[in-house]
Amino acid sequence: MSSISIISEKCVGCKSCMRQCPYGAISMKDKKAEIGENCTLCGACIEACKFDAILIEKDNGNWQQSGGSYSGVCVLAEQFNGDTKTVTYELLAKARELASSLKTKVSVIFLGYNVKDNAKALIAHGADEVLAVDNIMLKDLNEEIYPELTTQIIKECKPEILLIGATAFGRSIAPRIASQLNTGLTADCTKLEIDSKTGLLFQTRPAFGGNLMATIACPFRRPQMATVRPKVLKASKADNSRRGKIIYPKVNFPKDIKLNILKTILSDSQKINIVDADIVVSAGMGMGSIKNMKLVEELAQVLGGAVGATRAIVDLGWAEYSQQVGQTGKTVAPKIYIACGISGAIQHLAGIAPSAYVIAINKDKDAPIFKIANLGIVGDCLEVLPELVKSLRKIKESKVKVEA
Ligand SMILES: Cc1cc2nc3c(=O)[nH]c(=O)nc-3n(C[C@H](O)[C@H](O)[C@H](O)COP(=O)(O)OP(=O)(O)OC[C@H]3O[C@@H](n4cnc5c(N)ncnc54)[C@H](O)[C@@H]3O)c2cc1C
Ligand code: SF4
Ligand code: SF4
Repeated sequence: MSSISIISEKCVGCKSCMRQCPYGAISMKDKKAEIGENCTLCGACIEACKFDAILIEKDNGNWQQSGGSYSGVCVLAEQFNGDTKTVTYELLAKARELASSLKTKVSVIFLGYNVKDNAKALIAHGADEVLAVDNIMLKDLNEEIYPELTTQIIKECKPEILLIGATAFGRSIAPRIASQLNTGLTADCTKLEIDSKTGLLFQTRPAFGGNLMATIACPFRRPQMATVRPKVLKASKADNSRRGKIIYPKVNFPKDIKLNILKTILSDSQKINIVDADIVVSAGMGMGSIKNMKLVEELAQVLGGAVGATRAIVDLGWAEYSQQVGQTGKTVAPKIYIACGISGAIQHLAGIAPSAYVIAINKDKDAPIFKIANLGIVGDCLEVLPELVKSLRKIKESKVKVEA
């Protein structure tokens, strides 16, 4: 187990460490530094001490905390109405890769109601064991019950890595789980890999408004927790010949639940989810006004796609937040992404998977979106979109006539 201590003979009582500690965990006693219980072992005080009077002993190989060793890679599955969300299979593919680097097993925590049959699919997609809780109390995605049960299971099975989908629900419960386990959490990772020297999980995510990528490690707490957005990773293929265990761990449901879900209502844009669509037609400020949004909707409709948006127009109320593509919205990986009146800010581009074929329509030939577009149309959206819709409808109609 890692620990921190003050080498009393070396400490001169300069208080540098005290000023540096972000957690107020250092106090002075008899002119010597003393570390309190709220120390998170972050290591910030080490560099502040010019007298080498602070010692942190790390145990990286076989990591231990609270009296037990942590091993294995775990995925927290997400389902809605019994259907496993695709992001779970995406995380499972990554979990398998990490587990093979660490030579360890992959487990999945699967909570829900009437989910027993789907547990087998998790094994087919790469899980060695599924820790399932099937209970009517889990019918709704309750943000109080799910983190509580997950924490109980994690404390029992002690995985060294826990991966969660950065969906709306995942983003809500992941910090609660991290806080209950007193460990770190890196949100919205775009890359996860095992450092060959230390065996630590290196978690990379955009920082400073997407202008640089930060790689974060969690050396002193377990599990190492990361969330990844849907479509950032590739899902594993099912192999029905795979064998694994389905375990039903004993859990205690919390007694005084303060959060009751009365009704779950799906918004229209959730019904045509931009994350799952093969074609996304997105609107930006270049659409000029909310009434022109119908041009984008028409194009999406004729192509059988979904409507996305930039943050600028979501802020104006022209589109819903669930339609926002980008760093603070969703990541999409359609086959075709049509950007209408979008400048191409880095925060918007962060939400478009590199595999997408990008078609940009912008009246400014120097707009940054053209730098990443596969096909660019320099023109006014208000003129180009109606023409496009007209042509596509004609093609569709002639196809129907030929088939008839
Ligand atoms: C921390 C942070 C997070 C952010 N997260 C996100 C995010 O998740 N998603 C996101 O989208 N943004 C995000 N942003 C905002 C981002 O920086 C941009 O401000 C935003 O994407 C710009 O939206 P836009 O392209 O619609 O508008 P603008 O930048 O104003 O671009 C409008 C474009 O339309 C063109 N145009 C104008 N009229 C026409 C016309 N008639 N026909 C054709 N083209 C026309 C213009 O030439 C221009 O290029 C974030 C910003 C920050 C700081
Ligand atoms: S390791 Fe971090 S939390 Fe602990 S005393 Fe040093 S600075 Fe404070
Ligand atoms: S910085 Fe070092 S020498 Fe100064 S009080 Fe802290 S432990 Fe002691």
